[in-house]
This record gives sequence, C-alpha cells and structure tokens, in this order.
Amino acid sequence: MAHVVVIGAGLGGLPAAYELRHLLPKSDTVTLISNEPNFTFIPGLIQIALDLKPIDHVQLDLVPLARRHGLNLILGAVTALDPDRRQVTVKDQTLDYDYVLIATGASLAFDLIPGLGPHGGYTQSVCTPSHALAARQAWLKFLEQPSGPLVVGAAPGAGCFGPAYEFVLMAEHELRKRGLRDQVEIVYITAEPYVGHLGVSGVKNAREYTADLMEQRGVRVIDNAVIQTVTPDAVLLADGQSIPFGYSMILPAFRGVEFIRQVPGLADEKGFIPILPTQRHPEFPHIYTVGVSIKLAQPDVTPVPIGMPKSGQMTEAMATAAAHNIAVDLGAIKAPQIIPTLDALCFAEFGDTGIAYIAAPVIPDPVTGKRRSSYAMRGPWIVWAKAAFEEYFMIKMRQGVGMPWFEKLGLRTLFGLRLLKSVPPSDPSKLAST
Ligand SMILES: Cc1cc2nc3c(=O)[nH]c(=O)nc-3n(C[C@H](O)[C@H](O)[C@H](O)COP(=O)(O)OP(=O)(O)OC[C@H]3O[C@@H](n4cnc5c(N)ncnc54)[C@H](O)[C@@H]3O)c2cc1C
Repeated sequence: MAHVVVIGAGLGGLPAAYELRHLLPKSDTVTLISNEPNFTFIPGLIQIALDLKPIDHVQLDLVPLARRHGLNLILGAVTALDPDRRQVTVKDQTLDYDYVLIATGASLAFDLIPGLGPHGGYTQSVCTPSHALAARQAWLKFLEQPSGPLVVGAAPGAGCFGPAYEFVLMAEHELRKRGLRDQVEIVYITAEPYVGHLGVSGVKNAREYTADLMEQRGVRVIDNAVIQTVTPDAVLLADGQSIPFGYSMILPAFRGVEFIRQVPGLADEKGFIPILPTQRHPEFPHIYTVGVSIKLAQPDVTPVPIGMPKSGQMTEAMATAAAHNIAVDLGAIKAPQIIPTLDALCFAEFGDTGIAYIAAPVIPDPVTGKRRSSYAMRGPWIVWAKAAFEEYFMIKMRQGVGMPWFEKLGLRTLFGLRLLKSVPPSDPSKLAST
C-alpha cells in the first residue's frame, strides 16, 4: 500500500495526481497538497487582469474534484521536506511518503528590484490569481483616466516572456477598442536580447513576426534592459533611462518556493531542482519534480541574464512522464520508463491575432546547436486555438483526465510535436542530468 504525495495543484500537479490515480491500484493513496483551494489555469490570467473574463472561468474548486476522482486532498502549504526520512510537513501534520512529486511552480522574486511588484511596490503582476485580480482593479482605474504611459515588461532573470507580450498587445488592442489608444504611449521593456526571443533563440520567424507586430501597434521596445528600481511613477534602468508610467505590469525573475530552498542538496542556489530525464532527482530517488520547479539551464549567453521558459504543455508532458515512472518504480505497471522530449508549443494571443511559437525541443542539440524543428506561425486562428485549448484543458481537469492519447496524437499531427518517448533501461542518456 504505497503513498504518493503530489505537492502543488497547478498545471503540473493536478494532471500528475490524476495520472497517478489511474496508474496505481486502489489500495495505494495519492495525496494532493495545495496551498490554494482552487486549480487555476495560469495562462488565462492575462484575460482576467484585462477584465475580459471573470476569474471563475479559469478556476476549479479542488475539494469536489478530489472527492470525485479519488485523491486525498490536503489544503495547506508544505513548509518542510525531509528526503532522508521521506517526510513532508504541511500545517501541523507530518506525512510519510514512498514517492513525492514536486509541482510547486515559481516563487516570484520581486524583492530583487526595489519597487517591483504588487506587494509594497508599484507594478502589477499576472502570475497568480490574486495578482491578476489586483492588476484588473488598477487597469479599470487606469481606463477611467489614463494618467501616463503603459509600461509592460520582464525583469532580468525572468524565464517567462510570452505573458508580457500577450499583456502588452492585448492591452493595446483594448485601448484601441475603447478609443483611448491616442492618449497612451506604450513601452515594452525586456531583458531579452531582442524582441521575439522569448528565452528561446533561433525560432524561425519569431523575431520578425513579433517585431513587426510591435511596430505595427506602435509599441516602443527597449531590449537588453536592466531594470534597477521602480518608483511610484517610473521604471529606472541601469543605463540611466527613466521610463514614466501610469500603469505598469512587469514579470519578475522566478525562483523555487521556500521549503525547497531549505532542503540541503535538493536544489540549486535559486531553488530549481535538478532532474534526470525521467524527472527523478539525481540524488534522491524518491523525489520527482515537474514544471517550473525544475532546473533547466539557459544555453544562450545573453548580455542580460534570462531564464529558460517552461511552458504549460511541457509541464503537462513532464507530469505524465513522472507519474508513469513512479508507477513503474512501484511495480504498478510493467513498461519502460518514459521521458518528456521538451518539445514546446506556446500560443500567444494578441487581441485580434496571435503567434504560435514552436521549439522542438526547447533546448537545441548541444553538439549541432540545432532543433528538430522550430518556427513561428501567425494569424487570428491562434486566438481561437488558445481559447479552445483552455476550454479543453478545463474539461480535462473537471473529468479527472491527465494527458489522453488523442491529445498526443493531435499535437503530433498538427505541429509535429512528440511530447514523450520510451527509454530502454540500458539507455545511458536517461542518467544524464539536464
Ligand atoms: C501569466 C502567465 C501566463 C502563461 N501563459 C502560458 C501560455 O500561454 N502557454 C504556456 O504554455 N505556458 C504559459 N505559462 C506558463 C505555465 O503557466 C506554466 O508552465 C505552468 O503553470 C507550470 O505549471 P506548474 O505546475 O509548475 O506551476 P503552477 O501551475 O504555477 O502550479 C503550482 C501550484 O503549486 C502551489 N504551491 C506553491 N507552493 C506550495 C506549497 N508550499 N505547498 C502547496 N502548494 C504550493 C501553487 O499555489 C500553485 O497552485 C504562463 C505563465 C504565466 C505566469
């Protein structure tokens, strides 16, 4: 009677818990620990911040989901993990585990830049449900009387740029729709080496399509930017520029959540957890990690440091692989281990059009520097595709489904993405750390 604990009920944790529940016998327990009462589809938060839909469109109450789908849910924040004793502490309970799967996403490093972020700072964020709601309140006030430029961007060390592009171009679209565009100058400030890099260099057409759109929409771009301080009405850069704003949304650098950083030998200095390709920890064989919590080195040396994006769909593939491999380790299924290919697809919507960025895999071959395929596509269909994918994902989470075969087949047929592959036990690449 094994006990598997999943920490975090986001895009990685909830699908992983469902996969585990399907793969393990009923006598085994799958415990899901979440510090939030809801599952949130994080990519939908930009629309919440811009008041395009209510928050309940992207959230699901975890209590009925867990009851319906056989998960032992504990609501509370994990505060400690002891890999040697195989124990997790949540609130006043200590749980023993056979395997733990960490899917706690990002902790937001606003403290690295004075004045950054909604907690005592002057910029908004869209990274959590409460941030998106606060950003919406400020946005509605801004629309009543735009008091200065709109400044959107990503701080040095950020590893997630798509949401910043979506925010700036969707906000531009909204301002146009409301007849306010002439009153608002728009500036995009980014640590990326060029517009359209998104933390992933060399994606065919990505730079050109993104730069074209920013130019057509009249968005001034400042790249290679080092944001040093934010005051109540301006972003100050290391090169001395001061960019005034009436409304600002800046994505911070990410790091691993606090309890991870407290466990000796578990993570790197930023709190990101190293993994083998199977998602297992190289030193602690009973710990698996998926999603934003993993360590994924940025292969590009850029003038301003940036992280590597870990997209939602990559996270889902990691969750599927980790759940499968835990079931193999426990002897619940007889199959080779599987690994995610890290093929990435990101639909970015910009109001009346969008760009799909495809990098398969996200990390190029270290020898040739090439990927199997990588390109960008653009058009209004991306807005519809993103909305359809969001709807599909929410249905899956309601129904207790992880990553079904037709999703894998669909992504392979439409975009050439492979998502997962089996590893023969003798394959040494399985042992190499990413
Ligand atoms: C605004 C935004 C837009 C995005 N848009 C896209 C997109 O369009 N396409 C795309 O592919 N990717 C997108 N991403 C990236 C995508 O959201 C992530 O890849 C994905 O959410 C990662 O899943 P995760 O499980 O690692 O983290 P999350 O989904 O963030 O889930 C982590 C969960 O763990 C919980 N948690 C944290 N600490 C604890 C603790 N101590 N105890 C218990 N629970 C804890 C958190 O509350 C959270 O519920 C976007 C990201 C952001 C921020």
